[in-house]
Amino acid sequence: MPGFEIFGDEERREVQDVLDTGVLFRYGFDAARKGHWKARELEKEITALTGAAHCHVCASGTAALSVALAACGVGAGDEVIVPPFTFIATVEAVLNAGAVPVFADIDETLCLDPAAVTRAVTPRTRAVLPVHMCGAMARIDALQKVCEEHGLILIEDACQAFGATFQGRALGTFGRMGCFSFDAVKTITCGEGGAVITDDAQLYALADAWADHGHDHVGDDRGLEGHPILGTNCRISELNAAVGLAQVRKMPHILETQRRHKGALREALYGIEGLAFREVPDPRGDSATFLSFFLPDEDKARKTAAALAAGGVDGCFYWYDNNWHYLRRWDHLKKLKSAARLPLTLLDEVPDYSRLALPRSDAVMGRTISMLIKLSWTDDEVAQRGEKMAAIIRQA
Ligand SMILES: *Cc1c(COP(=O)(O)O)cnc(C)c1O
Repeated sequence: MPGFEIFGDEERREVQDVLDTGVLFRYGFDAARKGHWKARELEKEITALTGAAHCHVCASGTAALSVALAACGVGAGDEVIVPPFTFIATVEAVLNAGAVPVFADIDETLCLDPAAVTRAVTPRTRAVLPVHMCGAMARIDALQKVCEEHGLILIEDACQAFGATFQGRALGTFGRMGCFSFDAVKTITCGEGGAVITDDAQLYALADAWADHGHDHVGDDRGLEGHPILGTNCRISELNAAVGLAQVRKMPHILETQRRHKGALREALYGIEGLAFREVPDPRGDSATFLSFFLPDEDKARKTAAALAAGGVDGCFYWYDNNWHYLRRWDHLKKLKSAARLPLTLLDEVPDYSRLALPRSDAVMGRTISMLIKLSWTDDEVAQRGEKMAAIIRQA
């Protein structure tokens, strides 16, 4: 999945444009920038790729989540339903918005289970924030329905699923807003970067303003712009956007390569007794950044992950024991450890995450291994990897 594998002359050329003008800021300096608007061009490429009406690129995927929550009006005391399997950034964005993360179980899609979301709804629930983990989709149609039925705002964390689709429609376009990350290890990278997309012009205007201290971006004199709301700074620099611009144009090649590699590896593991693949609601739309599979039980999965690592099969993740991506090891969250007091500690009922038990999610994650699909492998390397993995898994 990592776009950094294909950093080349295209990226260097785009960055050079910015260095040649010295305009590193995405707004203003119209004459000096000699027609180079890298952030703006990247936004155009992302709307073209996703089919969304609007896009705002920003400093990171985490910033994108904060922008989306703010623009959608999710804030102080609002409950937001999130999955326990994600990168911690999803949860941090909710906490930093002053809102309350409420965890619902995942299922064998490795994403939120719509029935579990329904059970987690309370009168204080404001939004549902599914995460399309490891390149493929949640049951996004069912989640959309749950949100409609309960009058909830759907925001998609598609940080790991740029380029993925469900029934032909880009992930990120099912919710009121969708969020992407272009950090160093994502499908494409800006070095650091992110984006929000939406079809709603009003939400876009709020996002665009909130991410830049409330600036309305009307007129051509930044000093004279209106600022209808307070906001913050989530801006991307032109240098970062330039890298993203070269990368986004490589998406067809990235998707084609990942899908070919994943297809071959899936084939190699197909039929191994006790091995099952992650459920993907629309396999054609999988961006194929990871191959995820289940072993019969936790013990077998842990042993298999260790055997794969010992056998030199790199890039295999056993998330259940990993302290960045699954709730089980999030001790900082369980103790609400932060640099400063979090807004949710002012609530009458402060949630006690240390007592949170999600046995159904544990049962899924305890059996899951995911392998990163790389772009730089040759077809021969993929074939050898497949054979090696199959042999190791059969023996483990
Ligand atoms: C990477 C990631 C983020 C955060 O993106 P950054 O650009 O690193 O801030 C958020 N959610 C998920 C699921 C991610 O994988």
